[in-house]
Amino acid sequence: MSEIGEFGLIDKIAALAEPTLSAVPELLTGIGDDCAIYCPSAELLQVATTDMLVDQVHFDLLTTPLRHLGSKAISVNVSDICAMNALPRYALISLAIPASFSVAMVEELYLGMSLAAKEYGLAIAGGDSSSSRSGLVISISMIGEVSEKELTRRSGAGPGELLCITGSLGGAAAGLKLLMREKEIMLNHIENNESYQRSVMADLMEYREAIQRQLLPLARIDIVRFFHSRALRPSSMIDISDGLSSDLQHLCRQSGVGALIDEGRIPIQSSTRLIADELQDDALTWALTGGEEYQLLFTIPREEYPAIADNKEIAVIGETTDAKEGVLLSDIYGMKIDLSSIRGFDHFSR
Ligand SMILES: [Mg+2]
Repeated sequence: MSEIGEFGLIDKIAALAEPTLSAVPELLTGIGDDCAIYCPSAELLQVATTDMLVDQVHFDLLTTPLRHLGSKAISVNVSDICAMNALPRYALISLAIPASFSVAMVEELYLGMSLAAKEYGLAIAGGDSSSSRSGLVISISMIGEVSEKELTRRSGAGPGELLCITGSLGGAAAGLKLLMREKEIMLNHIENNESYQRSVMADLMEYREAIQRQLLPLARIDIVRFFHSRALRPSSMIDISDGLSSDLQHLCRQSGVGALIDEGRIPIQSSTRLIADELQDDALTWALTGGEEYQLLFTIPREEYPAIADNKEIAVIGETTDAKEGVLLSDIYGMKIDLSSIRGFDHFSR
């Protein structure tokens, strides 16, 4: 598994699922985009996604409050729905719960899910629960809706279009690094029988934003609502869950285009750069390869730029090119770096 990675595995699974598709002509797209697309009626489409969070792979309960985890589990699914320019409608939630969990802990997890669902305007419609012999597993399936004229796939970009990103990048990776450092300090304190609480509470306040990006990411449903209000449909879109480098390559591969992005235009908050300096790490690497950002990467034709120009949450980071140009980053010295040489976030190769 570590040899072929998550995307190699998806290719193999997609080949095995392929023969099942012909029985259901209403299924317009199966594996290969942020969501599957199902067409129950002429105008309104359903999009469906599922996402699993596994203890010690996706989260660590030592550094993750259960309410935050519940909220994040909802948000990561909503983010895939948003990547189709769709709005979430309902979710089915399955939990595998370790014996060490109390009822109050499960309630706390569900409270986070419920609060997030309310925020996004979606219903928790059902699910399943089981005991777990190892850690907590949260699996959520989510259905969204979109009109046919608003549906946005990964595959619609043409060459010479603007590449845009929402929000800023690198913050979630910064938060993760801080939490890992904090966990180490905490474990050391426990080993030495020292009081942990006081030092940490004071320390972490200044990193609040980065930690929040990691523990409590928000799906960009505000951007989808903005697109709908402007009757603007991006030509292609994907959410950044594996890192800008990796997700940009997915979008380019699906659209059959290349890309040239400009390092100087990638939005990275100064607080993220400060944390990178402090941890002797590199904020650009975090922005390119850090997972779990849940921002939206999309393309629009140049002439539609005025429709997004006033939205401060959207930055143009480059443009699409011919596929033969490859997917490139122009660094601050003008050197062109092939992004296919930079690996994104992959659970199977950690
Ligand atoms: Mg996605």
